Amino acid sequence: MQDLTWLLLPVAVLGGWSAAIWMRNRQTVAPATALSRDYLSGLNFLLHEEPDKAIDVFARLLEQTAVTPDTHLVLADQLLKLGIEFRKRGETDRAIRLHQELVGRESIDAAQRTGALLELGHDFQRSGMLDRAEQLFLELAGNKAYEQRVLPLLLEIYQQERDWDKAIRIAGKTGDAGDVSANSIIAHYCCEMAETERANGNTRGAREYLQQAFLQDRECARASILLGDMEREAGNFKAALVCYRQVESQDIERLPQVLDPMVDCHARLGTNDRLIDYLRDILTHYEGISPVLVLTDLLAREHGETEAAVFLREQLARRISVRGLARLVETGSFPDAVEDRELVSLVTQLVDRLQQDRPAYTCHECGFSGKTLHWQCPACRLWDTVRPVHGIEGD
Ligand SMILES: [Zn+2]
Repeated sequence: MQDLTWLLLPVAVLGGWSAAIWMRNRQTVAPATALSRDYLSGLNFLLHEEPDKAIDVFARLLEQTAVTPDTHLVLADQLLKLGIEFRKRGETDRAIRLHQELVGRESIDAAQRTGALLELGHDFQRSGMLDRAEQLFLELAGNKAYEQRVLPLLLEIYQQERDWDKAIRIAGKTGDAGDVSANSIIAHYCCEMAETERANGNTRGAREYLQQAFLQDRECARASILLGDMEREAGNFKAALVCYRQVESQDIERLPQVLDPMVDCHARLGTNDRLIDYLRDILTHYEGISPVLVLTDLLAREHGETEAAVFLREQLARRISVRGLARLVETGSFPDAVEDRELVSLVTQLVDRLQQDRPAYTCHECGFSGKTLHWQCPACRLWDTVRPVHGIEGD
């Protein structure tokens, strides 16, 4: 156990005894009182990696009536911190035991008991006993002084348990999280419920949840994408396109997610020319490479590879990109001198390797990165912060 010098504070209070002297010579024990002896013996157990014995000693100390109220206050405070230290080290069983000892003592004051209950809730949450943590946090939420501290903790539990109804009730009280408004977060909860209903084959229920999402946040791109996917699945391609097109104004960074579905809808409707016009317009105000690649494929299909290659070269001059280069290699439109099979193969391999190693998404809040889209960051648990990586190797 490292750096427990702060635990010496009660020793100083107990016996007027100098912690500094003890620090100079740890073998020297100055028994000012029986209480300080007991306390030091608890400390010794800690220093000798016998924390369970230390907890026994500290628990006995808390029972001793001879301890003055001031000393009790300091002692309980230090033991509260010691419990936190156990939890940080992953020793949640010990943290729970210590904090339970504190909660059970009549000698500690009301504020300390509430503080110990809060820490006990954290201990339970950390050790996966979410029901017990929830119970404690709910109890504390009734205390005005603690309400704003425990509501986010309750929200975390409900999100972990995917209990979106309860999460909605709490999110309404906790307010915004980071740059994301409470309404946007609630809209995500509605989308989570819509996805579950859709997976269970209940499309009507899913649509109702999506309507709720829009009522919370008209700009919820996720709800538009989901509704578009459902319309497409039902064969309503025009309706699906209306949804997908909303994404551009709601959150243009989500646009790459709807490009392939849009290609599918236009192909089924036989309106590729309209998609070509739409994408040309997008390129006037979107810097990413995804629409360029989709448009290159469309031009190749509709007007041939040569026109597609001319367009792509023109675009790459403005927005250099690994994925763009890969597509250019495929067109085989290099000058004769470069059109060597081996060289083209090497460039292709290089591009593949670069793409394998790069994350497609990163969290703006905590820096988490990965290849999969997460609506909620798995690391910092914030919503809508994991976004496509831009730049030469990204979109
Ligand atoms: Zn994050």
